[in-house]
Amino acid sequence: MSKILIRGAKVLGGEAQDVLIDGETIEAVGTGLSAEGAEVVEAEGKVLLPGLVDLHTHLREPGREDSETVLTGTRAAASGGFTAVFAMANTFPVADTAGVVEQVYRLGQESGYCDVQPIGAVTVGLEGKKLAELGAMHESAAGVTVFSDDGKCVDDAVMMRRALEYVKAFGGVVAQHAQEPRLTEGAQMNEGVVSAELGLGGWPAVAEESIIARDVLLAEHVGSRVHICHLSTAGSVEIVRWAKSRGIDVTAEVTPHHLLLTDELVRSYNPVYKVNPPLRTERDVMALREALADGTIDIVATDHAPHPHEDKDCEWAAAAMGMVGLETALSVVQQTMVETGLLTWAAVAERMSVKPAEIGGATGHGRPVSAGEPANLVLVDADYRGAVDPAGFASRSRNTPYEGRELPGRVTHTWLRGRATLVDGNLA
Ligand SMILES: [Zn+2]
Repeated sequence: MSKILIRGAKVLGGEAQDVLIDGETIEAVGTGLSAEGAEVVEAEGKVLLPGLVDLHTHLREPGREDSETVLTGTRAAASGGFTAVFAMANTFPVADTAGVVEQVYRLGQESGYCDVQPIGAVTVGLEGKKLAELGAMHESAAGVTVFSDDGKCVDDAVMMRRALEYVKAFGGVVAQHAQEPRLTEGAQMNEGVVSAELGLGGWPAVAEESIIARDVLLAEHVGSRVHICHLSTAGSVEIVRWAKSRGIDVTAEVTPHHLLLTDELVRSYNPVYKVNPPLRTERDVMALREALADGTIDIVATDHAPHPHEDKDCEWAAAAMGMVGLETALSVVQQTMVETGLLTWAAVAERMSVKPAEIGGATGHGRPVSAGEPANLVLVDADYRGAVDPAGFASRSRNTPYEGRELPGRVTHTWLRGRATLVDGNLA
């Protein structure tokens, strides 16, 4: 059956409407639409949004299939309401050639759960020494427009300048993991009161802020576009706000975990809270929420970073950095931004679908919920309350900081171009 009638959903959190899907496209949006010949999905009380887009996902394939594969990662994405994800380049081998990005792109298409747009490395092997084949990756079947050495910072200013100049030719963007390497040697957590008490190596805010300041000035100097990954400090917000007021072409993302969790949690020594950039202070968290609300921070991106049990279930210092996030992202945003009155659901759609699609050039995603548009949609039961149980995750990894924590909202349905990838909370 190719017709689906979603009945009585609050489109973008507004008035209840029916949405009729025919094939890959939304045929009509209105009230009292005929259900003739259509499969009906009763959606009364639920919120309908355009399918979410994640600009920052680690799918781990090729090379670390014990953590995640393109298939398991895209199944996790569909469970979380995503219809497109951008896959970071720090795989083994690194996605620094046309061959590797095409392989990831093809695996995404084969998975069928979610569109996968590979991100290309900025430098060969993420080593910061030599520019990767940016042009060849852009011209490949994968059509790469976003480049990042994420996991590592492009810390050499000349290399960053060259990358910004290069991508300008085809409207690409460099996504920077802002971490001054010398200032973060031996860093284990946010540098501050808690790190001093625990005696753990500190990751100071200035290590992030100094790189962001440098990069927005470089972007201005060469007239190119820069995107700041997982911005985490109040000072970073001020720099991006200043850069935007000056007309510099900069966009920024915040992760769900930086909107909710603080470095106080590290007192538990539970490595599930070990992440890069680290969890910051309450003051930073509040500044990030405000900045996401006022548009200084453009988007939410998960930085979904799956790790196998053995890399996390060990002492703090030895543990890998990162958290899974695809399946809990929308719930965390609901709790921190919607239920606090900082964002409407329409604004959530803007920051988790429209804008990330725009920044990454994912045409066909982040489109309005209206007739003639691709049927990339997600249905959310916002009234749901329940504790997070990682046993039910589709991701191959379980390193979530939310185990047992009550979070609001549950994604019940996801449609990728009219085909259900998630039905009543179960993968299709
Ligand atoms: Zn990163």
